[in-house]
Amino acid sequence: MLKKKYPLIMVLAFMVIAASVMFVHLYSHEKTKEIFLDETEKVILLLKKDFLSDTVNNLIMEIDSLREQKEVVYQLNTDARQRRFVEEYYVSEEEFASFYENRFRGDQNQDLWTAVLINEETDELLYASEHLEGDTPTEVVEELEETLLSKGEVRKGSLRGIFGVSITYVENQVKEEVAASIRNRRFSNESYIWVNEVLNFEGGDQYAIRRVHPNLPETEGTYLSTHTEDLAGNRPYEEELQGVKENGEHFFNYYFKKLNSEEIGEKITYAKLYEDFDWIIAMGVHVDEVHAYTEKVTGEIEGLTSESVFQILGILLVILLSGLFLIQVLEKARMMENQKTLLNEVNRDLLTGAETRRSGTKHLEKLFQEYQRSPGSTAVMMVDIDRFKNINDTYGHDIGDEVLKKVTRTIHHMIRNTDHLIRWGGDEFVAVFPGMKEEYLREFGEKISLEVEKIRIESSEKPLKVTLSMGLTVFRSEDRSYEDALKRADLALYESKNLGRNQVSVF
Ligand code: GH3
Ligand code: MG
Repeated sequence: MLKKKYPLIMVLAFMVIAASVMFVHLYSHEKTKEIFLDETEKVILLLKKDFLSDTVNNLIMEIDSLREQKEVVYQLNTDARQRRFVEEYYVSEEEFASFYENRFRGDQNQDLWTAVLINEETDELLYASEHLEGDTPTEVVEELEETLLSKGEVRKGSLRGIFGVSITYVENQVKEEVAASIRNRRFSNESYIWVNEVLNFEGGDQYAIRRVHPNLPETEGTYLSTHTEDLAGNRPYEEELQGVKENGEHFFNYYFKKLNSEEIGEKITYAKLYEDFDWIIAMGVHVDEVHAYTEKVTGEIEGLTSESVFQILGILLVILLSGLFLIQVLEKARMMENQKTLLNEVNRDLLTGAETRRSGTKHLEKLFQEYQRSPGSTAVMMVDIDRFKNINDTYGHDIGDEVLKKVTRTIHHMIRNTDHLIRWGGDEFVAVFPGMKEEYLREFGEKISLEVEKIRIESSEKPLKVTLSMGLTVFRSEDRSYEDALKRADLALYESKNLGRNQVSVF
């Protein structure tokens, strides 16, 4: 009953183990996936952030260097013009004044130069660039000196000329060149740089003007408001302004139209304040592809997970089937062993443990057939206990039984595994010895007799001597069956009895 339950118990155990393994496996896979994706996303974002801030900061370095270059160039220009005026030393003051004025009024680039000419003696303003204001010559000169980046000065008698290139002029030029350069820049992933010029650091409507915006060039020059919300309801301009005000730079996320498309995407943005121009220079890049990437990886990992689930299930199934097979094999081996024991028990005489006559006869038949196939020497012995009836009568049936057992055990100890000892009936035994030579028969019989004579029965009150009568022979070629040999052994036994018992006779 229990044996039949083994496979069922195994299948149930298998299901429990499979479920546990699967759970642990899937759980660890899920955790690994989460950690991996989290870390990957972090790394990608970090790289993007580095890319954004590096690009913006490099641009700022370019602006600084461009400004320095311009300053040098315009100072050289101014110095050259100053030398040119100094050369006019031979002309009269009037002629000089006219020459000076013509040089500036007639200049092809009207905005480039800012200049004044005063007569210090009469405190007269002889010439001033149009955009200069101020009521007195001193005020005009003061204003001029404040605005100049490069400055030249020339004196001719009572005349004093001050001129140069204004900071505003150079900076406007730098701004234009930088704006053009930004518009020409190309970045992968629909990335671009834009510039807002802050008018009011307190924020509000018209807090800034959009100066450069490669994605929406038509909006360049328009006012911006910190109240503007993006598609997610955030106020990116306000966040940007607060961020740069606090730290000079700021990273933030917002939602914006993609370049050359109507699609809306999430952008991560870096903004930095360039204080000299009140510019917020910003650069953003879409982060959508990070999600696309993580989704792709998720898909791949999930594919791998289900594949490994099948592999594990397969392995467990193989283990289960092997287990079931092993149980089957062991079960069969056990059954065969049981059968053998059972058969042995059936074929054994209950009292003595010798083979039964039924089973012994079969062995005799088989051994005789083998002898016929390949003749060798096979000995047959017939034994009878002498005066056994007397033993029974004198000592009791139980002692008789004891004698039978001891005689059997004694003979069993002296024969080989391949030999057979059969209880032929009552106190009579038959034994077969395959491979025993004829000339050895008597000696062997006498050895057995000697051993049996040593048998002692402890429980018997009077000493008891057990002797045997034996008849021995071998299978002969003229024998038709084992019975012919048995008959000879029986005749030999009869002779031993006739000779007075406790004898060995060989036929
Ligand atoms: P002999 O020397 O001529 O053989 O004399 P014997 O007394 O042995 O005579 P016989 O062989 O005819 O007697 C066999 C006796 O063995 C008869 C029977 O009562 C007894 N016997 C047979 N089977 C058993 C048994 O299982 N147990 C006991 N205690 N006695 C048995
Ligand atoms: Mg007898």
